[in-house]
Amino acid sequence: MKKNGFNACFICLMIGMIGCVGFLMLPDSVFLKEISVPEVDEHTSMIAFTFDDGPNNVYTEELLVLLQEEQAIVTFFLMGEHMEEYPTLVESIVKSGHQIANHTYSHPNVEYLELEEIEEELASTQRMLEAFDSEVVPLFRPPYGCYSELLFKLEIPVALWNVDSSDWEGTSSSEIYTKVMNEVSDGDIVVFHDDNKETIEAIRLLIPELKKQGYQFVDITTLLKYKSSEAVLNK
Ligand SMILES: [Zn+2]
Repeated sequence: MKKNGFNACFICLMIGMIGCVGFLMLPDSVFLKEISVPEVDEHTSMIAFTFDDGPNNVYTEELLVLLQEEQAIVTFFLMGEHMEEYPTLVESIVKSGHQIANHTYSHPNVEYLELEEIEEELASTQRMLEAFDSEVVPLFRPPYGCYSELLFKLEIPVALWNVDSSDWEGTSSSEIYTKVMNEVSDGDIVVFHDDNKETIEAIRLLIPELKKQGYQFVDITTLLKYKSSEAVLNK
């Protein structure tokens, strides 16, 4: 897991640097989920697709439409900075029944931060997540998959991944599709980034094909109810 994280470090650092300062526009009230989440059959294979670094003003909406068409539920690891910039996209994610979770406020490498700095990055983002979804559960994915032992002093589950789609490497949609199809198995967590066209095109093919193979698409909290995942630490 650590190795995957380090591989992801460079590109994620570049992505993190693009973040802009936005205005704090939190909703007046928490939004209720508008769709009923499909029931889960615990005896059938399941998989958790996850999308980091959003919300993205170009691609998140397209992804939401696609997920709705396929009745697939996923987890979005959102950045506080981007939630401030695009609050209506966060509302749409929550209304669509997906899980939102913590990916820090400004996408630093928490491996090099002091405990107080890590706490501030996580707490400010968690407050925003709670403002958008009263049912949000504590769940954190460290940027670049990098962390130090300090992170475990905080009482928050740390969600890494079993399968890296490698979409951060500028790979084509067919390469993303092939890698995920070759590596995925029951109970896996797969990491994507909803910030590029290739990922969206790969998802468009991956979900129907995996559904055909019997997979159910669930968020991480649901996955952990039924499967013992080694990709989630500190839980
Ligand atoms: Zn990230």
